[in-house]
Order: sequence, then structure tokens, then C-alpha cells
Amino acid sequence: DTKAIATPKRTREILEKYGFSFKKSLGQNFLIDVNTLSNIVEHAGVTAESGAIEIGPGIGALTEQLARKADQVLAFEIDQRLLPILDDTLSDYDNVRIVHQDILKANVSEVIQDYFHEGQPVHVVANLPYYITTPIIMNLLMARLPIESITVMIQKEVAERIAAAPNNKSYGSLSIAIQYYTEAKVVMDVPKTVFMPQPNVGSSVLRLTMREQPPVQVENEPFFFDLVRASFGQRRKTIMNNLSRHFKDRFDKDSIRQSLDEAEIDEKRRGESLSMEEFATLANVFYRKL
Ligand code: SAM
Repeated sequence: DTKAIATPKRTREILEKYGFSFKKSLGQNFLIDVNTLSNIVEHAGVTAESGAIEIGPGIGALTEQLARKADQVLAFEIDQRLLPILDDTLSDYDNVRIVHQDILKANVSEVIQDYFHEGQPVHVVANLPYYITTPIIMNLLMARLPIESITVMIQKEVAERIAAAPNNKSYGSLSIAIQYYTEAKVVMDVPKTVFMPQPNVGSSVLRLTMREQPPVQVENEPFFFDLVRASFGQRRKTIMNNLSRHFKDRFDKDSIRQSLDEAEIDEKRRGESLSMEEFATLANVFYRKL
């Protein structure tokens, strides 16, 4: 694979040819290792029938590997300076379309409808700009897109928080928010040496597989997520303490104690020990009393 974009030599040549300088503010850390890229594409489950959506193609390192495996590739890039470069580096592939847009402002749903075939399995695959990891993932989930999975390189610490289980130190409201919509798994840790320039933080690849149904039944989703956030409000405090503070204008201590009792949750437990199922039961008990 001597002609791949993602080698240190070829990447340097491309950067030099166009006089490109990295913008730290756009999270520009490009991948320079084909092996890492093949692993990402493999974990994403991209096949010859797939549509692939990439966020931030850079100079096309991942885009190229996706173009080789997928039916169609659609990539959103915010940095105008990269457009002529991508035109050049991806000129061999006629199944790639670059959209010059901020992913946080794009109507991804509409673009999927316009560009991919009806019923085509679509996968999001990206080496994300780290400064907006969480908003990008939350936006994709809230848009309820017709996609199968999201496989992304992100900060190691954020990947661990997203995929964490109860009683793990990384478990929190972000774990619940994302696991409500997806099955989350950290599929590999990646060394800094596969990036140019090397990022200051560790990196991991996270795979999110979309669920057809949420794993728990919740009467009111905003209320559920609000209660979850409140339960983790002050990590060292008990669930009783955090909920009393949060609901002080709506419920007195006795009624909070009673609701915890009804949900069969010991008031001395901490938020980090509750499963999503327990949070759902608790939120439903409170919600019915509003
Ligand atoms: N995919 C390339 C690779 O792996 O070598 C580049 C990945 S780099 C970590 C992140 C890319 O996202 C950069 O190309 C950057 O310009 C782009 N980007 C940053 N913010 C963006 C945004 N809001 N919308 C779309 N692209 C963005």
C-alpha cells in the first residue's frame, strides 16, 4: 500500500506541496498509519454496500480507506484550505463527496436522504476534532439519524466515560445519555505516534451501535436525563443528598425518601452505583408525583 495518503512521507509531501499549516483550534491531528486506519474501518463494519459519513476528512487519510471499502463516502469538512487538497488527493475515487460545512450546523438527515440509497446501511466513521467530541456525538444521536453505528477516534478519557458501567470511576451522566441510544464499546487504544502532529492526550476508538429501542422504559425523557444529571451532581454525596438539593422546590425530604423507598433504592447509595434500569424506575416514580 505504498501510495496511501496515511504515511509520514506522503503526508509531509502533501502538506509541503500546499504550504498547509495545522490549526490547533480545529483539532487537526492527522493519521499517518494505514494499519490504524484499516482497524478503524474494520471495527466500523463498513462493507461494499455501505454508505459512510466522515466528519473532518483532513487531507483524506481515512476518507481514502473508506472509499476503497464502502459504496459511497460523504465527508463534512469545515476548513476551506483543505478542499483543493482533497480534490487532488482523492482524485482517483469517484464515490466520495466532500461537503464544506461545520458538522454542528449541518442537516445530516437531509444529506443522508439526498446522497445515499434508500435502505442503504450507513455508518459514521471519523477521527474527530477533539475540541467538540461530545457535542458532535450528542447531535448525531439527537437527530435520530437512520444509521447503524458511529465509530470514532476520540480522547481516551472521554471514550472511557461514554462506555463506563456502574461503579466504575468514569461512570456518569454522559455514560447514561449515550448508552440510552447506543451500545458503547472502547474497541482499541491508539498510541500518539500514529498522528501528525501528536495530540497532548491519549486516544481510543469508540464504537457505538445504535439501539432499535432504548434499553429502559422512561415516561418522560427530559425528566429522566435531568434526574440522572442531578444524581451525579456532587459525586461524593448520597443520592438522597443530591436529589434533595435538586428537587428542593418541588419535593420535601420525606417525599424524596418515600420515592427512593418505592423505587427500592437505599437512600445512602451514590449515583455512581445505580444502573440505568434503577435510574429509570426512580425517574418514573418521581415523574408520576409531579
Ligand atoms: N480525518 C483526518 C485524519 O484522520 O487524518 C483528519 C482528522 S482531524 C483529527 C479533524 C478534522 O476535522 C480536521 O480536518 C478539521 O479541519 C475538521 N474539523 C474541525 N472542526 C470541524 C467541524 N466543526 N465540522 C467539520 N469538520 C471539522
